[in-house]
Amino acid sequence: MSEDIKIISIIGVGYLGKQIAEKTVLKEYTIRLYDKNVGDLEIFSSNLKGKEETLGKVTSHETIEDAVKDADLIIEAIPEILELKREIFKIIDKTAQPKAIIATNSSSIPVSKLEDDVERKDKLLNIHFYDLFAMPMADIMRGTKTSDETFEKGKKWVESIEITPLIVKKECYGFVFNRVWRAIKKECLKIWAGGYADLEEVDKAWRIFQNMGTAPFEFMDKIGLDVIYDIEMSYFKNSGLEDDKPPQALKDIVDNGNLGQKSGKGFYTY
Ligand code: NAD
Repeated sequence: MSEDIKIISIIGVGYLGKQIAEKTVLKEYTIRLYDKNVGDLEIFSSNLKGKEETLGKVTSHETIEDAVKDADLIIEAIPEILELKREIFKIIDKTAQPKAIIATNSSSIPVSKLEDDVERKDKLLNIHFYDLFAMPMADIMRGTKTSDETFEKGKKWVESIEITPLIVKKECYGFVFNRVWRAIKKECLKIWAGGYADLEEVDKAWRIFQNMGTAPFEFMDKIGLDVIYDIEMSYFKNSGLEDDKPPQALKDIVDNGNLGQKSGKGFYTY
């Protein structure tokens, strides 16, 4: 266990927030959960409490304020929309104890973009997880004023839940591995949307190249196509380059409610 971090609040308990909770609860941490989808949160937290391997304590809360007030580390995992994250960071900063670290699990937004919304500019981090069970690694990146102490505490906590930290030395859109994955994803989407090849062809090539690893379109379906679209829009908003804009065909799929595995249909049908 980390010496400095004992209570962790997770704000936004969706696909990734759930995994962070599931991994953290395997150690003796206290976990506080908040999600605006109250029904889903209740089911998830009672399932988590009932699991045999659970060592930590889990509580769910009806307000963010209640969920963060005694936390040592707060991890935000709400949708990839900057304005939404800014709103939530403001609320967390006003309510959490002054020593608490606030981290975002954002896939693309540097935490420096949230600095203007908080007083505790030295206690901010990007902790970007991947699939916590299949790919146990997390990018850790500072804001412009993050202290060494905050960075070290965050890194030690990540290690304590058996996740390998990937140290980002200076601010980088996409961190370490997400930047690599982004380049692959962007080109795959362009090949498909441009009509150069069917998506199955791209995935087939990837599986041969990678000795049958999960292929890009299959992986995007797993992540959620709404999440993928928001992440790609975030890169586009940052660069302003037309080349970075996600294809309209991806937006059309999302607008039709086909979000990938979670809705039963995305690029593939489940
Ligand atoms: P998700 O849509 O599955 O989960 C988001 C959750 O946030 C939902 O449960 C939703 O009810 C909740 N929410 C929305 N607005 C809220 C609010 N105002 N207050 C509290 N809860 C709110 O999305 P996700 O895939 O878990 O992604 C969440 C974040 O994690 C994003 O920033 C994303 O970029 C990042 N991320 C996702 C993945 C992935 O594989 N999906 C990987 C790494 C990082």
